[in-house]
Amino acid sequence: MEILPSHKIIVRAVIIVLCTLSCIFTGCKKHTGVITEQIQPGIYWIKSSRSNVYVLTDKTLTLIDTGMQGDGEEIIKAIRAIGRKPEEVTQILITHAHIDHTGSLAFLKQATGAQIFAGIREIDYIQGAKKTWRMEREGLGGTLFKLALFFAETFFYSYTPVAVDVPLLGGEVLNCFEGIKVVATPGHSPGSLSYYLPEKKILFTGDALSGAPEVRLPPQAGCADYQEARASVKKLSALRFETCCFGHGEPLKSGADAVVKKLCAALP
Ligand SMILES: [Zn+2]
Repeated sequence: MEILPSHKIIVRAVIIVLCTLSCIFTGCKKHTGVITEQIQPGIYWIKSSRSNVYVLTDKTLTLIDTGMQGDGEEIIKAIRAIGRKPEEVTQILITHAHIDHTGSLAFLKQATGAQIFAGIREIDYIQGAKKTWRMEREGLGGTLFKLALFFAETFFYSYTPVAVDVPLLGGEVLNCFEGIKVVATPGHSPGSLSYYLPEKKILFTGDALSGAPEVRLPPQAGCADYQEARASVKKLSALRFETCCFGHGEPLKSGADAVVKKLCAALP
């Protein structure tokens, strides 16, 4: 039987939905324990159930993202395992409002008392005025992805809204950890942020870039605006960094900016 292009699109869309649902639902209750690794002195990667969380240790602690709902206790255990206390976490920096990055935000806010920093265009989602499954996603695949997220967020997760203490636009320099530059990297979501530590030559991209299974742009169906997402990656490629830490996939520990530049050069 001849497979028409339109059939191929539908098959791909169905695969996207099934993969999303199985991925989300199987991760719902199953937690196999986090993996924690020091990727630079004082900077730790916590591989939680569905995404990456990072801990920056200084006089106080900074968390970048919070994993899925249900990951919070494991993240607290990981903080204790590196010899620090949850109450030392003074700030939580959110890259974007998708539930695999904010699911344990309420739990961790309660456990640490930290201030929450997030992009101004993500605040309505984090604070509960809008559901995150309603965020724009591109194309037919994106529409089906939204449908899958609607079911997940309506029947399997109960996201607890949290007040954002410090709204960010991008361009700010946070007065901690030798200065953290906030870089606006919209596209994957409207208010996605990356966090850049120039002194340490390390970049945290959230989902503006994916590291799974290799360094690449986020999938188009997962993006609110793919053109904008491409422009954001080009913006990141102008920075100098040795290490790149993604929202998903293993961090690249050396020569990361060259890899991102090469990726950008290959973009049409
Ligand atoms: Zn995302």
